[in-house]
Amino acid sequence: MPKGKIIKKAATKVSAKSGNDVSPVKRVKKDVAHEMIRKLRELYPDADCELTYDSPFQLLTAVILSAQTTDVQVNKVTPKLFKRFPTAKALAEAPIEEIKDLIKATGYYNAKANSIQTCAQQLVLNFGGVVPQTLEELITLPGVGRKTANVVLGVVFNQRGWSVDTHVQRLSKRLGFTKNVDPYKIEIDLQKLFPDDDWSNISITIIWHGRRICFARNPDCPRCPLNDLCPSSEVKLK
Ligand code: SF4
Repeated sequence: MPKGKIIKKAATKVSAKSGNDVSPVKRVKKDVAHEMIRKLRELYPDADCELTYDSPFQLLTAVILSAQTTDVQVNKVTPKLFKRFPTAKALAEAPIEEIKDLIKATGYYNAKANSIQTCAQQLVLNFGGVVPQTLEELITLPGVGRKTANVVLGVVFNQRGWSVDTHVQRLSKRLGFTKNVDPYKIEIDLQKLFPDDDWSNISITIIWHGRRICFARNPDCPRCPLNDLCPSSEVKLK
């Protein structure tokens, strides 16, 4: 990691209160973007989905539960939930109050209980209880958007797809991969920047970096291996 000192004015200002980037940075060239991803892959060779699950249905349910909370928190509730209701059919027929009770610790549990149960019911009704393997079919399910669908497609079906979650949105802007704020437009920019790559693996690698170094508030630029390439780096190189 290159040595340097922290400068006061970063290319991208980060609001201390919200952690949101408030000014877009210059977009980087394709070769620089690829070099950044190469370095991140070197840093996180074992980057993988951090949710625990035993089947595509369980991963789909866990991803829905991960909204507005952390994977660690979801992993605390899913062992009991999946032991009690391991399949789409079991969850579709479960008493809603029991589901709410089991997932309470993930927050927004009323809405999430309804979401995972209606999703399970639609899976049973329309897909025989089996998670479909196309984006078009997955996004017909309640509570399932492109981000959730792409996580499932990439992680359990080895299909290419960008999971543009809060970390990918934030880092894509900081790293100069996009100037857009809309997740779908960011996804299109990323597809153009990395046309021939494993999008699912890059998404997960970026998510790992967002969780470990490039935090929403106070990104740890001095410890970041990208601080010589990143247009938002707060480290000034000598
Ligand atoms: S932590 Fe790394 S990627 Fe994030 S802003 Fe700092 S230098 Fe850039």
